[in-house]
Amino acid sequence: MGGQAVLRWVAVAPGIALRGRLGDQAIGFHPRCGLQWGLVALDALLAPGVHMIELIATIPGGQKVTTSVPLDVNAGDYETETIWLDSATQSLLDPALIRAENQRLNVLIAEVAGPPLWRGPFQRPMATPITSLFGTRRSWNGGPVTSYHEGIDFDGQIGDEIHAAAEGRVILAERLTVRGNAVFLDHGAGVVSGYFHMSELDVKPGQLVQPGDLLGKIGATGLVTGPHLHWELRVNGRWVDPGPWLTRGYP
Ligand SMILES: [Zn+2]
Repeated sequence: MGGQAVLRWVAVAPGIALRGRLGDQAIGFHPRCGLQWGLVALDALLAPGVHMIELIATIPGGQKVTTSVPLDVNAGDYETETIWLDSATQSLLDPALIRAENQRLNVLIAEVAGPPLWRGPFQRPMATPITSLFGTRRSWNGGPVTSYHEGIDFDGQIGDEIHAAAEGRVILAERLTVRGNAVFLDHGAGVVSGYFHMSELDVKPGQLVQPGDLLGKIGATGLVTGPHLHWELRVNGRWVDPGPWLTRGYP
């Protein structure tokens, strides 16, 4: 359904390179057990219906063969919530500020490549309760629904420890305007996790972290109504629900 990452396995003869495309999304494939697997991110607002994934195989010698496989997408069942902000926090909703920060992050995340670093399910970054799920449609100060929640929020007190969900390399650890003190981890295979609103950063860009390593501490920096961890997962640059990644392995 919309907002999920889906896994596709393809059997190809040895020596054939495979890549895929869904709209403007580039899909990488990786070998495992004699097959190749790729992750397809379905946008949370993707129109329900059948979408076609284009597969491009390059055979030794350079000739390309293209085929399409159907993917049936349903809308998903997401709630709507209203968030009330004071005027100082509301100023962070300035579209120019949000756009500038997003553009910089999109460039950074578009550069991630390489083989998968993780194995099996991801770990929860915190053991505290979840206070807001992925995909919840959001209204700001009673206005129309203009966006959705791009991650999962964990409850916590300022100073509580935040841990890496899986092995990855730190690609950003710094103060951002909207996201506050933020860490992004590159897990390889186009998968990136983000941890926002921290009071303290305990990692540096370039550092390789293992599952459970300390990344920082809970805070209330950036666009927030109180201390919490916002944790998000991107696949091929698109937000997906991190929830299923905690209970099953991809692949
Ligand atoms: Zn959040």
